[in-house]
Amino acid sequence: MILLMVKIQKESDIRLIGGGISHESCTFITRFIPGNMLAGQEALDHHRGRRTNLSAMIDVCEREGVGLIPTVYGSPDSRGRCLNESYYSLLNPILEGIEGAMPVDGVLLLLHGGGATEDEDDLEGHVLEQVRKIVGEETPVVTPLDMHANIGPKMMKNGTFFCGYDTYPHVDGYERSAEVTQLLIDTIRGKIDPKIAYAQPNMIITPVMQKTGYHPMKAVIEKAHEIEAEPGVLSATVSAGYPYADVPYPGVTMMVVADGDEDLAQRKADELSRFCWDLRLDFLARVVPMERALDMALAEPEGPVVLTDQADNPGGGPPQDGTLALKAMLDHGVTNACLAVLRDPEAVAKAIEAGVGNTVTMKIGGKTEPWVGDPLEVAGTVRLISDGRYVSSGPMGRGSERSMGRTAVLNVKGIDVILTERSQQATSLALYRSLGLEPTEYKILLVKSCVHYRAAHEPIAKKIIEIDLPGWHGTRLAAFPWTKLKRPVFPVDADALSISELRKE
Ligand SMILES: [Zn+2]
Repeated sequence: MILLMVKIQKESDIRLIGGGISHESCTFITRFIPGNMLAGQEALDHHRGRRTNLSAMIDVCEREGVGLIPTVYGSPDSRGRCLNESYYSLLNPILEGIEGAMPVDGVLLLLHGGGATEDEDDLEGHVLEQVRKIVGEETPVVTPLDMHANIGPKMMKNGTFFCGYDTYPHVDGYERSAEVTQLLIDTIRGKIDPKIAYAQPNMIITPVMQKTGYHPMKAVIEKAHEIEAEPGVLSATVSAGYPYADVPYPGVTMMVVADGDEDLAQRKADELSRFCWDLRLDFLARVVPMERALDMALAEPEGPVVLTDQADNPGGGPPQDGTLALKAMLDHGVTNACLAVLRDPEAVAKAIEAGVGNTVTMKIGGKTEPWVGDPLEVAGTVRLISDGRYVSSGPMGRGSERSMGRTAVLNVKGIDVILTERSQQATSLALYRSLGLEPTEYKILLVKSCVHYRAAHEPIAKKIIEIDLPGWHGTRLAAFPWTKLKRPVFPVDADALSISELRKE
């Protein structure tokens, strides 16, 4: 008779240790943005009762009677590669916290997946490697991941399993964090034996084509959900990747977790990878040249028509002060339009100095990256000045406090330009309404965002047009100064990889 020994632990005995480093590093730029950090109990108190990733972890642990020991959670300085000093100021207390808490039953990290440091192309792989050195091979180490995670070999080697977001705009961070926490606890209790497998279809998807509510990404996510529903499969993730990182593979990774069956996990990851690869031509960006986009927008009988300058989306790194789209609108004689937003602290200061109701002539935007437009000389009327604070009305981040820094609305020939001190994506209509602007009353809304604006704008937009402009968050991947990218890869080397496909047509 074989006696199966399963280690059963009393619920209250389980001790998890947590810590987080979250960063999406646009390695092509060197812009500085200050990071943030919350430590220990303060981190838990700040997040408890919200809808954040960490609040999901707290909720599941409390429900399951599991102890969660917090170290630190934060984001390092910089918008490009994380500055080393700042990175280690987060990593060191996490590692020291784990060392001090040993033995622990599991490590519940909170990593983004798209990070790089001055020295490490794979921030998360480096974190996991260091954690693994402390806890050994047997202790499970897990994290949820953003949909923009780039999965490198160190992550695969040192992580036990990952659950990534299924949505872009990201509206399921809470759910995926709850999922990975529950799977971790079930693993420690011996209820499941998770085996993860990876498959990479050798393709990069520009973020504008990663939106999960639309073909082709919608089909890939549906396929992942079908796989997830199959017997023996615990979780399936489509990590779309973060392409604005010059690393060996900033592309798509499929991750399937199966219960005790590594072969099943691999077969399903491969199946999902093949499915995505077969749709590769559908993933090529269909963006519209600016002039044509304006003609299309003006031909619509009613507004608002949303034009999106995803190439200058600050969420993915760019400075949000590109002027090409605004210049084209002014040249085109567009009126009854609003630009959300143009980051330019100097212009804000000048508008405030001029005062509400007064006219000011100045150069706005174009002060950071010359290739997204020169500073634009405008004469405008200051309509409003604000402290730039508002509360998001969602759907993304509903209830969270936002700050654009000091903000001025400058009306330039019928276009309301929202000038801000800080970058901000228009993910909530509260951004406009906090300034007394009603987004539904404009003919054209020009939004500097890639996909996240959709959750709030789709319900009001008569039409959405994604415009083709240069920028560090653009679609022209072949034009990026790659040095570390492993070639060939689709679609950077699209001609080489798709010619057989094209010939069939
Ligand atoms: Zn993301």
